[in-house]
Amino acid sequence: MKTDVDGCSTTAPGQEQYEEYYDASMRGTRVQYDYRTPEGELFSCVAKSLEAARDRRDAWLVEQSGRQSAPPIADEPDIETLMAQEMEGVCEATDGCLVEPDGVCPHGHPSWLLHLGLI
Ligand SMILES: [Zn+2]
Repeated sequence: MKTDVDGCSTTAPGQEQYEEYYDASMRGTRVQYDYRTPEGELFSCVAKSLEAARDRRDAWLVEQSGRQSAPPIADEPDIETLMAQEMEGVCEATDGCLVEPDGVCPHGHPSWLLHLGLI
């Protein structure tokens, strides 16, 4: 996209950016679409129209919100372990990844502290 800086989208959180271009191989216009969630995750796609791109974004957002409630797949650490992890600023997520105490791992699993409502 023209607004990219060093190949990275400059789309601000909660904003969308799009640009229409003529795709010679498709013999038609296409829309390059970027959307960044308020949490900072980037969605981008190429679609036939802005409406189609937004539909795909909406479907993606539904998928994302589903992932965020991913059930725990790792064993729950005991409370002393969790408190120690919070002090260290690194906490285990509910699938065993290491994240910030109030973080969510790339697979959509929140930290145990978040999951258990401790912070
Ligand atoms: Zn993970």
